[in-house]
Amino acid sequence: MRKRNRLSAQAYIDGVLNGDRVILSQAITLVESALPTDQVLAEEVMDAVLPHAGKSIRIGITGVPGVGKSTFIEKFGWLVIEQGYKLAVLAVDPSSQSSRGSILGDKTRMEKLSMDKRAYIRPSPSGTTLGGVSARTREAMLLCEAAGFDVVFIETVGVGQSEIAVKGMVDFFLLLMLAGAGDELQGIKKGIIEMCDALVINKADGDNKEAAQRAKREYANALHLFPAKENSWNPKVKTCSGLSGEGLPEIWQMIQEYRDLVYSNGFFEFNRAEQRANWMHEHVKYLLETNFYNDMAIKKDLDESLADIKSGKVSAIKKARALVQLFMNQILR
Ligand code: GDP
Repeated sequence: MRKRNRLSAQAYIDGVLNGDRVILSQAITLVESALPTDQVLAEEVMDAVLPHAGKSIRIGITGVPGVGKSTFIEKFGWLVIEQGYKLAVLAVDPSSQSSRGSILGDKTRMEKLSMDKRAYIRPSPSGTTLGGVSARTREAMLLCEAAGFDVVFIETVGVGQSEIAVKGMVDFFLLLMLAGAGDELQGIKKGIIEMCDALVINKADGDNKEAAQRAKREYANALHLFPAKENSWNPKVKTCSGLSGEGLPEIWQMIQEYRDLVYSNGFFEFNRAEQRANWMHEHVKYLLETNFYNDMAIKKDLDESLADIKSGKVSAIKKARALVQLFMNQILR
């Protein structure tokens, strides 16, 4: 096994709370690790930093590849840090396992932002399950907050499950779209449109301006048909150009208005409380799954019996129950 250099829990805690970016990165690597010993250390670090987390505005930004996410985040992020905020940008990208590549893996993305001390950009965590990836993203977000970042962007590629996971950890959810291409074409599911707090038609520049305005009117009409939201916020439709920066101050203004509303009507705290409860459930699943697959007896049994399961000699359902039984006997021993 590769040798891992780990710091003491206290060194991670002090480093993160002091805003040390190198230690922050190492702490995120630690929480991303599936090794049981790392998990124990990570839990100790998370426990200590949690009281210092939570004070940021968490914004989910989604949209299909090519919609202009990185260009938008670069410009919008700049606007945010120029207002005096410290910004962390994280990504949930389960597709990084496949040929599409990591959405933040490309170093040329967000070049200016990534060079500035007021911003911290973290490529997507690696992982094989969406649950695992999103759980790690949540912990990365909390570590960033504890390190003093007071605005967090979480980026996803707008095609389904990961948006639901991100919705479960942010305060505001923003969907970037293009004018002229139908929702179907953009691979955006209706469910995603329904859960967004703002729908932003991007690339509203040059010859595309008029089409963007038209799309804005159409979406504004369509959004009226959706049922009222729990947070009493009417989702807004905006246009912008991530390239020229036009429309970006209005988007930041809108997020401020949203924040004022949900602070005053109690939704902000209600939503965060619900999210914490869901987090606990997710973490139970994560712990069970990783400990199960890391268990030596399970590994050995699986190695021996997978071929029989694949060939149909042994029933998958029966084997699953037998393995879980074996695992429980192991823990209760
Ligand atoms: P991502 O895949 O969603 O991150 O999209 P990118 O930010 O990489 O942008 C994809 C392409 O669209 C690039 O060629 C950009 O130069 C272009 N682009 C991004 N934003 C805009 C914009 O606001 N206006 C125009 N005209 N082009 C843009």
